[in-house]
Amino acid sequence: MSGVQVYYGTLVHSLSLKELETIEQGVIVVEDGIITQVERNVKDVDTFLTTLNLTNYKLHRLEPKQFLLPGLVDTHAHAPQYVFSGSGMDLQLLEWLNKHVFPCESAFKNVQHAEEAYTKVVSRFLKNGTTTCSWFATIHLAACQRLVDVVEKLGQRAYIGKVNMDQNSPDYYIETTQDSLDNTKAFIEYTQQKKNKLVTPVITPRFAIACSSTLMKGLSALAKEYNVPIQTHLCENPDEISFTRSLFPDSSSYTAIYDDHGLLGPNSYMAHCVHMTDSEIDLLASTNTGIAHCANSNFSLHSGLCDVRRFMSKGVKVGLGTDVAGGFAPSIIDAMRSSFFASKTIKFLQRDQYNNNNYDYLQPAELIYLATLGGAHVLGLQDTIGSFVPGKAFDALWIDPATSQGTVDLMGQEDLSQIVEKFLYTGSDRNILHVYVNGRRVSGSA
Ligand SMILES: [Zn+2]
Repeated sequence: MSGVQVYYGTLVHSLSLKELETIEQGVIVVEDGIITQVERNVKDVDTFLTTLNLTNYKLHRLEPKQFLLPGLVDTHAHAPQYVFSGSGMDLQLLEWLNKHVFPCESAFKNVQHAEEAYTKVVSRFLKNGTTTCSWFATIHLAACQRLVDVVEKLGQRAYIGKVNMDQNSPDYYIETTQDSLDNTKAFIEYTQQKKNKLVTPVITPRFAIACSSTLMKGLSALAKEYNVPIQTHLCENPDEISFTRSLFPDSSSYTAIYDDHGLLGPNSYMAHCVHMTDSEIDLLASTNTGIAHCANSNFSLHSGLCDVRRFMSKGVKVGLGTDVAGGFAPSIIDAMRSSFFASKTIKFLQRDQYNNNNYDYLQPAELIYLATLGGAHVLGLQDTIGSFVPGKAFDALWIDPATSQGTVDLMGQEDLSQIVEKFLYTGSDRNILHVYVNGRRVSGSA
């Protein structure tokens, strides 16, 4: 869709963690994918449009009860693992990696298999409203390049990482340190030469267990040389943490291992962070490193409960991640619900153990913030996406809670905030009529 597009109806977006703004009779003007104007309380859109002196535009009117929501941001997912999602939920992390993940990922040396799988997973994520995703791919350069091609074709905004693994990995799925660095460099150059502003390469050491000190230092240097972000896993599971600490005894904590190798910073984000000491959280805060909260995965792989309040109270940036396929659901709507349950569970545990019922579990406005603007902050995209503000890209979902094809039942008496909550807790992809990335319609049920 090119030219000027005008959307008229109800707009819902986050202003901050606790402030969800609902705008009735709102107008968004989009030119070449970028929001140029947002107006509130416009009684007569046709009269309003005559004041804009637009020569050529298309007006899209939302029906009553429909609303626009910023596109959802998944800050952590593994594209190849979608192949076996829903399997292995009886295992913990390290067993699960050996039984399911490594055999699955090693098959992506077959580029045709990679293209088929990546087309399915990116299409599914878009259908579920994930307009921006930070992907882990595999160690294979050609298959990683194919993921970039698929994402570009399907129109998602994405961070894509070639995974690095040069130690403590199976014989059939490992690379030398030099190959890992060379192929990462080639991958970054392949992606950057496309000059597609929607697709960004991201440095992606799998986790410290699978990466030598030399590799991690080399990756840090590449991140600086090419000015690209860094993603990895941190403090997911107790066995993983103790094994990691045994491999890097000179570092004072798991988090310090990454800091000692130059992998923390304002362009870095860590998945999970379930089991963290206060000083490790302080280290994330002082380096301005973000986290991807993957509640479904943390339940499914028995990793534990991540208390994101601890991070947010220290000023750490927090977004949501599906962690497909540690998490079984390819949906940030599910991630909001899983985060809600994790937060409620922490409240129950605190009440039971300490008779302390003051824990402030996550509210609907906060869940929507984490799924949109919060994730944008984690990825350094807060000036580009996450809310409806002039200058940002039009990454948006056109939600229809009332459609008979959907999974929400409206009874007629709901106010707007109740309609939004009904979508949050009972809605699905079938209530998402249109999915837009940078102004282009890329998916939807209509
Ligand atoms: Zn992961």
